[in-house]
Amino acid sequence: TVILGLESSCDDSAVALVTSDRRILAQAVVGQNAAHQPYGGVVPEIAARAHVEILPGLVRQVLGEANLSIADVDAIAATAGPGLIGGVMVALLTGKGLALSAGKPLIAVNHLEGHALSPRLVDPDLGFPYLLLLVSGGHCQLLEVSGVDKYRRLATTIDDAAGEAFDKAAKLLGLGYPGGPAIEALAESGDPSSVALPRPLAGSPEPHFSFAGLKSAVQRAVASGQHAREDIAASFQQAVVDCLLDRTSNALAKTDAPALVVAGGVAANHAIRGALSELAAREGREFSVPPAWLCTDNAAMIAWAGAERFAAGVFDALDAPARARWPLDPEAEKVRGAGV
Ligand code: ATP
Ligand code: FE
Repeated sequence: TVILGLESSCDDSAVALVTSDRRILAQAVVGQNAAHQPYGGVVPEIAARAHVEILPGLVRQVLGEANLSIADVDAIAATAGPGLIGGVMVALLTGKGLALSAGKPLIAVNHLEGHALSPRLVDPDLGFPYLLLLVSGGHCQLLEVSGVDKYRRLATTIDDAAGEAFDKAAKLLGLGYPGGPAIEALAESGDPSSVALPRPLAGSPEPHFSFAGLKSAVQRAVASGQHAREDIAASFQQAVVDCLLDRTSNALAKTDAPALVVAGGVAANHAIRGALSELAAREGREFSVPPAWLCTDNAAMIAWAGAERFAAGVFDALDAPARARWPLDPEAEKVRGAGV
């Protein structure tokens, strides 16, 4: 089975062709960092217009590289949310147009399911269930993943996402967007124990994440003028690692899932990958993390989620909606009084 994947929910336009036996026939990702750099963050209207210009050309390019035509594809998988709604609509409407004109089934993919299932594209031994630490620009959650559409949320953030924390800290340090890679690079030459920063909620019996207090502490450390930027970067990264480790151990105690998995853009960070791999080993769980290119936004993960849904026989009608918000575990989001 060959699936064409389309992604445009944030600032990356991406197209990929992936088979159900885990071959990536061709893929392309075009970022827009330069366009958004002057604004210090993604400008939704600029992003949506850029996707309109870039995405159709990428479809042609990727089909050409794989030496296939649209007739050879078995289904079209397009991100239908969550994300910046103008961008989401570009992938979804492009997918609908291709599906309608070529007579192929449409699969409307949740971008978060793309991240959540991405480790299985490159790790054939990774079966369900697994405990997933989903750390991205907009999300920071622990989920028990038992299959397509089978997500149980154990924790989420009560304020910022992990990637958001990296991006805000980077801005405070005068680094560009996206902040994660810039902080990781600067942290290389810094001392992670030089600046005392808080580990919000660490040791707490409740399951959730919090990063707002850490950001404020970074702000104070910068303002004090007493620390080198690389020391603040290294200390910040260490604080995030410690928070993720603590919250993940808390969740591991609540599930006997045999594997721990990390995915989403922040999972590209080497300190985070290393620390979680050690935690899994200590706890006697298998560990899986996709290569860095598969952690940050791409269309191979969307095509792969499409392949998993295709195998499960789950398809969508051509009136499938684009959704700015779309939780993986809607039941958990309904619970009130959990602080989130
Ligand atoms: P979501 O997936 O929640 O909708 P998104 O798609 O915008 O959000 P991703 O592309 O999955 O987010 O991840 C982008 C985030 O990952 C950014 O916040 C970025 O700073 C962060 N990130 C990327 N590389 C690294 C890294 N090496 N270290 C830390 N953070 C990183
Ligand atoms: Fe993402």
